[in-house]
Amino acid sequence: MIRDAVRALCERFPGEYWRSLEPSTYPTEFVDAMTSAGYLAALIPEEYGGGGRSLDEAAVILEEVNASGGSASACHAQMYTMGTLLRHGSEEQKARWLPRVASGELRLQAFGVTETDAGSDTRRITTRAERRGDRWVVNGHKAWTSRALHSDLMILLARTSDDGLSVFLLDLRELDGVTITATEAMVNHATSEVRFADVEIPLDALVGVEGEGFRLLLDGWNAERILIAAECVGDGRWFIERAVEYASAREVFGRPIGANQGVQFPLARAHAAVRAADLMRREAAARFDAHEPCGPEANMAKLLASEASWLAANACLDAHGGHGFLRRFDVERKFRETRVYQTAPVSNNLILAYLGQHVLGLPRSY
Ligand SMILES: Cc1cc2nc3c(=O)[nH]c(=O)nc-3n(C[C@H](O)[C@H](O)[C@H](O)COP(=O)(O)OP(=O)(O)OC[C@H]3O[C@@H](n4cnc5c(N)ncnc54)[C@H](O)[C@@H]3O)c2cc1C
Repeated sequence: MIRDAVRALCERFPGEYWRSLEPSTYPTEFVDAMTSAGYLAALIPEEYGGGGRSLDEAAVILEEVNASGGSASACHAQMYTMGTLLRHGSEEQKARWLPRVASGELRLQAFGVTETDAGSDTRRITTRAERRGDRWVVNGHKAWTSRALHSDLMILLARTSDDGLSVFLLDLRELDGVTITATEAMVNHATSEVRFADVEIPLDALVGVEGEGFRLLLDGWNAERILIAAECVGDGRWFIERAVEYASAREVFGRPIGANQGVQFPLARAHAAVRAADLMRREAAARFDAHEPCGPEANMAKLLASEASWLAANACLDAHGGHGFLRRFDVERKFRETRVYQTAPVSNNLILAYLGQHVLGLPRSY
């Protein structure tokens, strides 16, 4: 039922819509439609006005967006960024913010972790929050903060001591000293740079325990990785469906190109890879929903699914020959969109390092 309903919504936003946004316009109408339908509040418990859905169901929502040719990256963070607040916020913080995030009145879809100089090594961030009297004062910058220009609230990771990071919930609408500048990038989720110059935030903007911010974020990453894996599975399905349709219709040398095993086998291989990654995604979501440890499964799901969608993307582009570069086929756009998942929100190399060193117990590289 969820798949059919999401599919019906996405039919209102066909390829022409996504092409019209190229290279980097934010899909406001699509995000509004997803919000009004309640999909982005799927993971917020019913007591706060959300859908109270499982992660498995939420994953299906995002998978169908990408399988229909759209891009869930523009809005997926509205679904999961609130998880940090839900799991670690005080009762007062949850009651104040979650109902308005659930209704869509407020967008909480920006999270500022990455900094230019720290890169993948999050523990080296330098943005600082200092306690001064009854305020925190924030100074520093964040790079690649996606959707900040389309968000009311933001989760910020900042240094609060030499060896401690903390998480804050910022109300961007009320802050002086915050400058958000759009980053020129070939993606439509409005990524940006955020600068903080003596930005004063209230003491109760702190989420969870001071100095425990890195652990708090780690805790939210499993859900994010499982949802991203679902988007990759959706992309993989889209590429294979399009390629099969095209390769069955296009005739060269007197027969459909799909009759040639050189065209057929890469598609069959990619199909198998997408299905296998989907199984890992489902296992990870089942464990998450059962409150069982799921770090290895969530990470493997994201790794395998992003690799599978990339395999499918290449097979699809190859099957289209030169026509794959015609804008009207959307293949090149989706090719670019799915490639981002290898790097963001986390680089696959870091997943491999986690699997090698934390799961297999190999010697540490850092
Ligand atoms: C479109 C987009 C949207 C994004 N949105 C957000 C967002 O909303 N919020 C946010 O906080 N961040 C966001 N990011 C940032 C993203 O999380 C980072 O780009 C990513 O974590 C990698 O950091 P980096 O780009 O600085 O790469 P670097 O850390 O400079 O790494 C460069 C390359 O070297 C590899 N590498 C580095 N160290 C090692 C190592 N020890 N072993 C093996 N390989 C290594 C990396 O895997 C990568 O391939 C976004 C990025 C993109 C592209």
